[in-house]
Amino acid sequence: MSEPSAIVIGAGPAGLMAAEVMALGGLAVTVIDRMPSPGRKLLMAGRGGLNLTHTEPFESFIDRYGAAAGPLRPVLDRFTPAMLRAWCEALGQPTFVGTSGRVFPKAMKASPLLRAWMARLTVQGVQFRFQQTWKGWGPGGGLVFDDAQGIQETTTPSVLVLALGGASWPRLGSDGRWTQTLSAQGIPVTPLAPANVGFDVAWSPLFRAKFAGKPLKAVGLRFGDTYVLGEAMISKSGLQGGGIYALSRDLRQSLDAGRPTVLTLDLRPSLSQAEIRQRLERTRPGDSLSNRLRKAVKLGPLDVALLREVVGMNQPISPEDLARLIKALPLNLTGAQSIDRAISSAGGVRFEAVNPDLMLTARPGVFLAGEMLDWEAPTGGYLLQACFATGRAAGEAALSYVGRNRQNAPA
Ligand SMILES: Cc1cc2nc3c(=O)[nH]c(=O)nc-3n(C[C@H](O)[C@H](O)[C@H](O)COP(=O)(O)OP(=O)(O)OC[C@H]3O[C@@H](n4cnc5c(N)ncnc54)[C@H](O)[C@@H]3O)c2cc1C
Repeated sequence: MSEPSAIVIGAGPAGLMAAEVMALGGLAVTVIDRMPSPGRKLLMAGRGGLNLTHTEPFESFIDRYGAAAGPLRPVLDRFTPAMLRAWCEALGQPTFVGTSGRVFPKAMKASPLLRAWMARLTVQGVQFRFQQTWKGWGPGGGLVFDDAQGIQETTTPSVLVLALGGASWPRLGSDGRWTQTLSAQGIPVTPLAPANVGFDVAWSPLFRAKFAGKPLKAVGLRFGDTYVLGEAMISKSGLQGGGIYALSRDLRQSLDAGRPTVLTLDLRPSLSQAEIRQRLERTRPGDSLSNRLRKAVKLGPLDVALLREVVGMNQPISPEDLARLIKALPLNLTGAQSIDRAISSAGGVRFEAVNPDLMLTARPGVFLAGEMLDWEAPTGGYLLQACFATGRAAGEAALSYVGRNRQNAPA
């Protein structure tokens, strides 16, 4: 086999984007993945419609990355949400803006996009090797892979892009084992933790049996100073869904610190507490509580059951107290659900370990991209946008690195 000048490990959105940029720049690129086929997690994301990015103003967009907004800003500046949409369009996958500014491909799934992309990468000369697990660097400094033939060490490519993903949904390929490999090299890695994940609530068996899988639509969710409007789904073990994910970073940090973690639900965001109280005061006292809540404030069976689940309500309750609970129903969260079912991971290689080109300072020629870097963001298209953009940035930087080294090589 002729030695490739560039190797990408990880055939997810970040790795494939880096491969495309380098192939277009003239490098012989080989993409290697431990799975039998590429983009397994991207395809899974497609099951929910594939929320590619978001159209909100750039300044609020960038804020979604929290502490990582600083290092990610130049990367996202160079590959913006509008550029990602144009890139999809060029692949024959036009996009549209859905509710609350989120962007999806018109096909509402990932498979046509991935198929078209793989075809284009093949035309660009990118080679693929599957079912090879990267194990690190060998004694000779080459890359070590485990495949059907056993452990093998290859020679070192001119540039290497690692795009190994996080650790959510490990059966889709990214299992986070690379954290041990890189930590052993002295590279600082924040431990991977579940992000955009559900939280545990100790539901009663009756409530769980009746309502698991049912959505609470258009509710307000508050934790600390943060209030979001969204949807929450009752699960067997607690709560999940977009509204919960938006708060998941703060909720997880609170639980990790061992603090009591109480999320409050606003079951009627469009009405003030005073309006709810007035409406309840006008209901007939002889009516059942469920009927009063339905007639006065249009609360459905799930809302009413939730009120009963949390506060009992076996005793008469005043309109004032009821209104207060409808606006701020406290739910005690007992833990975060496992990373196996999280949408994404927090943690990863710390930005202090890479230069602004996303190259490991301890290992010149090794670039990082995607979810394996230490950033997190809520759902809404922010995850894929950052994966594509860091893939692009790593690919461009790797290309310049090869160019610089060629120039500096002795004649
Ligand atoms: C259910 C679900 C729904 C989602 N929906 C959305 C959404 O709508 N919008 C959004 O923005 N994001 C969504 N995401 C998140 C998004 O899919 C990920 O953030 C994104 O795929 C990460 O891209 P990546 O290229 O960094 O890593 P990955 O896509 O995880 O790819 C990493 C690749 O590296 C390979 N690999 C790992 N270790 C090794 C190794 N040692 N050797 C060889 N290969 C290795 C893996 O097999 C994998 O193919 C969703 C995720 C899930 C699980």
